[in-house]
Amino acid sequence: MRTPGQRESLVRTKVIKWYATHGRSFPWRTTKDPYTILIAEMLLRRTTAIAVLRVFNDFMARFETPERLAKARESDITRALTSLGLQSVRAKQLRKTAAIIVKEYHGKIPASHDALKSLPGVGSYIASAVMNFAYGYAVPLVDGNVIHFISRVFGVYFSGPSDERAWDFMTKFGASHKAELYWGIIDLVATLCLKRYPRCPYCPLSEVCDWSMKD
Ligand code: SF4
Repeated sequence: MRTPGQRESLVRTKVIKWYATHGRSFPWRTTKDPYTILIAEMLLRRTTAIAVLRVFNDFMARFETPERLAKARESDITRALTSLGLQSVRAKQLRKTAAIIVKEYHGKIPASHDALKSLPGVGSYIASAVMNFAYGYAVPLVDGNVIHFISRVFGVYFSGPSDERAWDFMTKFGASHKAELYWGIIDLVATLCLKRYPRCPYCPLSEVCDWSMKD
């Protein structure tokens, strides 16, 4: 019989190992550039990675620095994001955020969770993602994917990403670990742990997952 700590450790190891061979490759995962990661995370909000991938490289080529994004016309940013939906809101937030970064942070993305979180369109998850993926700080991340994953694997339920208990859980489970743990969770949820029909027989966690073991 495993202790809860041993089980958590096993889950982490399995997710990171699975990610190394089955993880998806995206341009925002192969860089530590905080601007690229911030823009990617802002676009990924309420949007699939595949949809973001279709516009990402062109967007970054066109608005390659906070200065260029801040100076761009809102209508041009909106047009570049049309296929993602919510394009007007996104364009407004991106431009405002870029303007603040230029004016208050000399064009550098702040390495502070509080400063990031205060930017338009940047909540706790995006701030944590930049701190973690760009700056290498071991901070927890909680979004809908993470909540779904925890509920399936550990049978622990939270009311949503703003539930403090979920952040506490991930502080214990995920904070000391690398970006690969989170990318592994995101990719597992996107490809195997599907909401309606999870593909447990193909999942590396099938022998340690609550949901799979109760079947
Ligand atoms: S074993 Fe099934 S329910 Fe559990 S994480 Fe994998 S796909 Fe999801």
